[in-house]
Amino acid sequence: MKITKMKNRKPKLIIFTGPSGVGKGTILADFFKVAGENIIYSISSTTRAPREGEKQGVHYFFASKDEFKKMIENDEFLEYALYSDNYYGTNKNFVEENLKKGKSVLLEIELQGALQVMKKCPDAVSIFIKPPTFDELEKRLRGRHTEDETKIQKRLQSAKEELKNIDKFQYVIENDIVENAVNKLLEIFNRETK
Ligand code: 5GP
Repeated sequence: MKITKMKNRKPKLIIFTGPSGVGKGTILADFFKVAGENIIYSISSTTRAPREGEKQGVHYFFASKDEFKKMIENDEFLEYALYSDNYYGTNKNFVEENLKKGKSVLLEIELQGALQVMKKCPDAVSIFIKPPTFDELEKRLRGRHTEDETKIQKRLQSAKEELKNIDKFQYVIENDIVENAVNKLLEIFNRETK
C-alpha cells in the first residue's frame, strides 16, 4: 500500500481501540513505518509503572497519581480513564497543536476514553481492533508475560466489556494476520485523509 505525502491530506484524529493483548502495538509499529510522515502517535500520560524497556516520553509520560490528578484539575486531558487500577490520559495540547499543523494524530486508547473522544470530536475516525476469538486473546495476553495473574484477569474482564461495544465504532479490523490488519488500517487512513 502506497501513502502519498501529507501536503494533500486532511488532518484527522484517529481513535484506535481494542482489548489489551489484541496486538495493537504490533500493528501500529508496521503502520507507522509506512504512514509515519503523515500521522503522529499521541503519547499518553499514565500512572502505570514502566515495563522493562519502556522510556519516559517515548512510550508514555509516566506520572504519579498526584501529578495525574493535578493534570485533570488543570484540564490538560482531551480524555482520561481509570483502567486496571491506573489512570491513562490523552494530552489535549499535543493533539490540538498537531492537528493545527496539518498532521493527523492517532490515539491508542481504551474504550472509555474512546467513547469520550467520539462524543467531543464527532469528526474523529474510530477503529476497533478485535481478536479472532476470545481464547486467542487470552493466549496472546498470557504469552507476552507482562502482567501477573490478577492483572491478566482484570484485563480479560475489561476485554469482555470492550468487545460488547464494538458496534459503536466506524471501522472494525480483525487482527488475524498482522499484515492484513496493517493493510486494512492503511486503507482506512488513506480513505479518511484524502
Ligand atoms: P497498557 O498498560 O497495556 O500500556 O495500556 C492499557 C490500555 O490503556 C490499552 O488499552 C491502551 O490502549 C490504553 N491507553 C493508553 N493510553 C491511553 C490514554 O491516553 N487514554 C485512555 N483512555 N486509554 C489509554
